[in-house]
Amino acid sequence: MTHWHAPACAAALLWVALHATAAAPLAPLTTEEVAPGIHVHVGRIADWAEAPEGDVANLTLIVGSRCAAVIDTGGTPALGLRWRATVQALTDKPICHVIHTHVHPDHILGREAFMAENATQWSHTNLPGALAARAPYYRAALTREFGTTLPDTALAGPYSPVVPTQTRMLDLGGRSLELRAWPTAHTNHDLTVWDAATRTLITGDLLFITHLPALDGSLRGWIAVTDTLTGLGARTIVPGHGAVSHDAASAFSPQAAYLATLARETRAAIAAHQTITQAVDKVGQQAASSWQLVDAFHRRNVTTAYAELEWEDE
Ligand SMILES: [Zn+2]
Repeated sequence: MTHWHAPACAAALLWVALHATAAAPLAPLTTEEVAPGIHVHVGRIADWAEAPEGDVANLTLIVGSRCAAVIDTGGTPALGLRWRATVQALTDKPICHVIHTHVHPDHILGREAFMAENATQWSHTNLPGALAARAPYYRAALTREFGTTLPDTALAGPYSPVVPTQTRMLDLGGRSLELRAWPTAHTNHDLTVWDAATRTLITGDLLFITHLPALDGSLRGWIAVTDTLTGLGARTIVPGHGAVSHDAASAFSPQAAYLATLARETRAAIAAHQTITQAVDKVGQQAASSWQLVDAFHRRNVTTAYAELEWEDE
């Protein structure tokens, strides 16, 4: 008789173990309430591919009296699921808006976790085009770096568009958010969120703190947008990477200085007829040295700056 019972018991135990694993609650992400009703998960200062679950971008939840908004969804599907569980632990309000600051993988590859929500998905009007061009590359990188596949539907629209000449107001009940789309800066499709009630600005990657700014759009455009953002009178600033700040001048000035030096020294290299290879070895070395992730991003920044500035009329 026992030889019948033993396998049955083992199978039952295995089933229980598997079931328990599947049902285990996801470990919540650490968050901080940086202003009333605004919760931020600050990602690691690391390259996306090298961080567990791609957890490098800052993720924000804003809770109104009627519903909540999520700003960016995380760098992998697994992180997106943890972020959604974290949101559900922080509020019982429904998520009515999911806002995508831009298309970089560390900000958007967790989107699938929020697809089931009956929420409007917002982006800069240029985001779907950027996504169409880049999604195959991002999906391949996700498989290569994290061993995860992403279904076609995970990034598919519709995205409600915000165009650079307009702002969109979202009502969460008792507080309204202003979405603003920007001319080409960090990318060609950067979107910011402004919470008027607390004067909080969520910049996406229009602002980097500690993590070296990564240029994927227009250097001249980013310098101009950085200047505009600095003057908005924000009381709390949530950057795309790095710690939340409550002082606009000190939050934006290191990035402004780095970008200005990058432009000045790249123009000088072009004027001296240096090749792009020579410029990459010299430009901005001193300016970059006070940041983290210089090896991952600085040379690429110089290359992008050179390609842009060699065509300007001077
Ligand atoms: Zn970015």
